[in-house]
Amino acid sequence: KLDGRGTFRFFEPAMDARMQARRRLELDMRQALARREFQLHYQPQLNLADERLVGCEALIRWHHPERGLVSPIDFIPLAEEIGLIVPIGEWVIRQACRDAASWPQPLSVAVNVSPAQFKSDRLVETIMSALSQAGLPPSRLEIEITEGVLLQDNEKTLQTLHRMRSLGVRVSMDDFGTGYSSLSYLRAFPFDKIKIDRSFVTDICAEKDPGTKADGEAIIRAIAGLGRSLGMTTVAEGVETPEQLRRIRAEGCTDVQGYLISKPLAADDLLSLLSAPVPGARHE
Ligand code: C2E
Ligand code: MG
Ligand code: MG
Ligand code: MG
Repeated sequence: KLDGRGTFRFFEPAMDARMQARRRLELDMRQALARREFQLHYQPQLNLADERLVGCEALIRWHHPERGLVSPIDFIPLAEEIGLIVPIGEWVIRQACRDAASWPQPLSVAVNVSPAQFKSDRLVETIMSALSQAGLPPSRLEIEITEGVLLQDNEKTLQTLHRMRSLGVRVSMDDFGTGYSSLSYLRAFPFDKIKIDRSFVTDICAEKDPGTKADGEAIIRAIAGLGRSLGMTTVAEGVETPEQLRRIRAEGCTDVQGYLISKPLAADDLLSLLSAPVPGARHE
C-alpha cells in the first residue's frame, strides 16, 4: 500500500487468485490422507560393481480427484510450510517400511525427510514404530536429507541424525553439490551415502558443449573420490543414457539411479521387476 494505490490495484487480482489457489490446494491436501489419495512409487538403485539392485527410493505421488497427478514439487513445499508434512511424512515412512518388508532380503528403501519433519519431536519414534510394525530391520531403511535439514544447523538436528544412526538406520545426503556449503555438511555428519545431484549428470550428454561436459565429469569424479576416501557410497542421480552410465562408471561412482535403470514404479510393478530373471541393467 505504501507504493501507492495504482501499483497495489494492479497486482491485487493476480495475488488474490494465487492465494485462492493456494488455499484450495491446502484444503484438498488436508483431506488427501483420509481419502487415500497418496501413493508411493519406487525407483530402483543399481550397484555398479555387481550389477545388482541394492534398494529403491520412495517417491510420493498425489492422485488428486480433479487435477489428476500432482507432482511432489508442487505440494511438498506447501505441506512443509503449513506443517502437514508431518502427518504425510509419517504415512510415507510407515507405507515404505510395509512395502519394503515384502521385497527380497537385502533390498533397502530410502525415504525423503524434509526440514519441517526434523523439527517435529516424533520423527525418531515414528521411525522406530514403523520399523517394528512392518518387521523391517533398521539396516534396510535409509533416510535421505537435503542441505535444508542441516541449514537449521542446531544441536537437535545432529542429535536426531545420530539417534537414527544408532538405531541402525542409514542416512544419505541428497542433491549433493547444489547447496552453498555441501562440503562442510560432510564434516558435520558422517553420511552413509552421497547422492550426486542430477544436474551434474545432465551435463554429461552429447548435446552439451565439450567444456560443460568435461566440467560435469570432473565434478562427478571429485565427488566419487571424496566418497571413496570418506567410506561413503556415491549414487549418481538422473542417469538417462548409456553414455552417462559409461562415464559415471569410469569416474568411480558406486551406484546409479535414473530412468535408464527404471522410472519410479508403483509397488506392484516393482515387485514384477524384482521377480523378473534379468534386472533392468543391461542397457549398455
Ligand atoms: P529427489 O529426492 O531428489 O528425487 C529424485 C527425483 O528425480 C524424483 O522426482 C525422480 O522421479 C526424479 N528422477 C529420477 N531419475 C530421473 C531421470 O533419469 N531423469 C529425470 N528427469 N528425473 C529423474 P519426483 O518424484 O518428482 O520428486 C521430486 C522431489 O520431491 C524429490 O527429489 C524430493 O525432494 C521430493 N519428494 C518426493 N517424495 C517425497 C516424500 O515422500 N517426502 C518428502 N519430504 N519429499 C519428497
Ligand atoms: Mg531423494
Ligand atoms: Mg535427489
Ligand atoms: Mg531433489
